[in-house]
Amino acid sequence: MKKLTELVFDNTYARLPEALYSRVKPTPISAPYLVSFNRTAAELIDLNESEACRPEFVEYFSGNQLFPGADPIATLYAGHQFGSWVTQLGDGRAILLGEVRNQKGARWDLQLKGAGQTPFSRGFDGRAVLRSTIREYLCSEAMHHLGIPTTRALCITGSDMPVHRERIETAAVLVRMAETHVRFGTFEVFAARGQYEHVKTLADYVIKEFYPELADERDKYAAFLREVVRRTARLMAQWQAVGFTHGVMNTDNMSVLGITLDYGPFGFMDEYDEAFIPNHSDYGGRYAFNQQPHIGLWNLSCFAHALLSVVSEDAAFAALDLYEADFNNSYGELMRAKLGFVEAREDDSSMLKELLDAMQASAVDYTIFFRRLAGFKQETEERDELLRDMFIDPMRFDGWAAKYRARLQAEGSVDGERAAKMNRVNPKYILRNYMAQRAITEATERRDFTEIERLLDLLRAPFDEQLERETYAAPSPDWGKRLVVSCSS
Ligand code: AMP
Ligand code: MG
Repeated sequence: MKKLTELVFDNTYARLPEALYSRVKPTPISAPYLVSFNRTAAELIDLNESEACRPEFVEYFSGNQLFPGADPIATLYAGHQFGSWVTQLGDGRAILLGEVRNQKGARWDLQLKGAGQTPFSRGFDGRAVLRSTIREYLCSEAMHHLGIPTTRALCITGSDMPVHRERIETAAVLVRMAETHVRFGTFEVFAARGQYEHVKTLADYVIKEFYPELADERDKYAAFLREVVRRTARLMAQWQAVGFTHGVMNTDNMSVLGITLDYGPFGFMDEYDEAFIPNHSDYGGRYAFNQQPHIGLWNLSCFAHALLSVVSEDAAFAALDLYEADFNNSYGELMRAKLGFVEAREDDSSMLKELLDAMQASAVDYTIFFRRLAGFKQETEERDELLRDMFIDPMRFDGWAAKYRARLQAEGSVDGERAAKMNRVNPKYILRNYMAQRAITEATERRDFTEIERLLDLLRAPFDEQLERETYAAPSPDWGKRLVVSCSS
């Protein structure tokens, strides 16, 4: 385990042509203090957790002091935002410090989000507020521990420096980690400008660094596109299965690694609602829960289009053609596991649809229902009251349950075994909006960060019973269901 000063930084991206980024130093924040430190992420860079107690820690990770060897940059990208092309975006408030390689050879980009203006800030202040930083920090860790690919988060530093949003808030810097933060939009910007040499350079870089297994393929660019299609399809299936809505699936928020990136007005569903829209600025519902699989493909088609200087049209279409089957297979597999089925059967999808329709009609809590379903008994004649009580029309549940029981019997399902398996895929704890909000209120109003720690700890084991924390497994209180989340962050 390393001390802070032993972290060795490299920045391979900063050795690419300068058209791809801009060198920029973080702008210091006044009197930074540590809000939260995530030892689980620190392990990824072999950083000793006791280092968080050193006064220099907040200096380095707020951007006030530079690590030796770090070559900080802001990367250029563009993107389709809500379906419209925006010619230039780029890291307007995120600064990439560089990469740290751990003992096992894995490399991690360390990025400061909220570290001040860059040449890509477009007149905005380059800052992040504590509120949104806490949401990203908690959610990215929650997703990771749910088994969903995502950026990670090392720590949050705060400052009393005022930041103007709808009201005055205070600044914070999130240290975000990923193998790379390259987005679909990073490719799109150069393709749109006709700078095809940069498209090729970037593709070569991403393949060499992150898809080395594709480097020797006959058509490595097409293979790369196919892999991004497959990973994105899988990611969309994982979001759908867990009931997560990203909220702002612009192409600049889509990772070329197929990981969840850029947490803004996201939401985990409380009551099942296929049209759930977590982002209150998304008036048309473009990024509603049930639109995500389709938007994933739409975004991939933008990405494929950006690669047309290195991938033939036929190969691009063939790659995109993989999406639907990949998504359906992944989603089917994940939902079968949630239902406790081992075998795949023809009418599984209609059985699932019937269940989801009934859940929608009764506004049944998605997470709680699946967790309780593990306790379903095949042999007993008596109805499972805990489950049927969740439905306004319990008879509708009974009708479904009869089919479910028959389906379980048909594959020789064993109750105890099935329950154990289901509890490993149906989380007991998710990051409900109200939970994040409570942690935010305590942090912003009382400078009390204990709830952040408690949630971080809770969400590290979302499938465990954690009996002393049972209250977090309850439905959201009414105030929590009505919380408004906007893009402002
Ligand atoms: P986001 O909605 O966070 O994905 O951001 C979309 C784009 O706006 C990205 O290019 C961000 O870098 C930029 N951006 C968002 N907020 C700020 C800010 N406060 N200052 C500068 N740029 C920002
Ligand atoms: Mg973004």
